[in-house]
Amino acid sequence: MIREDMERLEERTLSVRAQLSNNTRGRIYPQDRCSIRTEYQRDRDRIIHCKSFRRLKHKTQVFIAPEGDHYRTRLTHTLEVSQVARTIARALRLNEDLTEAIALGHDLGHTPFGHSGEKILNAIKTDGFKHNEHSLRVVDILEGEGGLNLTWETRDGILNHPKESTPCTLEGQVVNISDRIAYINHDIDDAIRAGIIDATDLPKDCIDILGDTHGRRIHNMVVDVVSSSTGKEYIQMSREVEEATEKLRSFMFDRVYMNEKSKREEKKAMHIIEQLFNYFIRHIDELPDEYLNFIESYGVEQVVCDYVAGMTDRYAIKLYESIFVPGFHIL
Ligand code: MG
Repeated sequence: MIREDMERLEERTLSVRAQLSNNTRGRIYPQDRCSIRTEYQRDRDRIIHCKSFRRLKHKTQVFIAPEGDHYRTRLTHTLEVSQVARTIARALRLNEDLTEAIALGHDLGHTPFGHSGEKILNAIKTDGFKHNEHSLRVVDILEGEGGLNLTWETRDGILNHPKESTPCTLEGQVVNISDRIAYINHDIDDAIRAGIIDATDLPKDCIDILGDTHGRRIHNMVVDVVSSSTGKEYIQMSREVEEATEKLRSFMFDRVYMNEKSKREEKKAMHIIEQLFNYFIRHIDELPDEYLNFIESYGVEQVVCDYVAGMTDRYAIKLYESIFVPGFHIL
């Protein structure tokens, strides 16, 4: 069987620290294995074919509902994370398929308007809202026929992708560090494109260590992670590169994520999410059927949250207009 050949290939070629697909803790609902794909390849494919994955295309990364064609969206961010993570995983002889599955699934639970949407849902929903927990809810419950039924390791990596958590597999840890490498670098690139910062504004000591172009910075960070993590039980950067990366991140916080214009846009985005949330709490009969079916099991507030969190930026804006702005709207 082709799949068994691939499992043997993993055993022969991967690091002793890699998560072998044949050693998975399995799926919530046991299933026969595929004849040609390993368990993690199958997870990856289920994620790529789900609707939430396609919606990432119209969800904000940093710039809310950007007009320009070259700004990152959640989808392109996800692809960049996957690229960085696979490069690191392959260099460390970890399981590239598991790494890819986690990377492609990690942000499925993001709200419209990026972290502004997450912030307001967290404030208004009784038991709070976290995008990583929602990513797991998407793959476990909301997608497919009662969830995508992914393996334990992919689910662990998706749930534990924020910086302060540690996934159980090195593959999951690779995705965490790759998420940071990808977003810090592409947010710099997008902020320069938008004219919010200039390349010459970047802290000089960071640039001396990390490199003076987008490509060189990613390359140096990736090479540093590989050389600092080889033979180790955890995935890390060297101290020097870690500190320079963190300093660059703080710079981005002050100058881009928290600047006046971003805060103004954030307020508008939060207003839209809050209004939609409150509206559907009062008008549950207007929820799409696929969400209505969940009310009995999860309650009104959770299901309204699922619906609102799943929206793309443009869908939320159009829906807001059709509900709250007079005129003839085409949804
Ligand atoms: Mg991410």
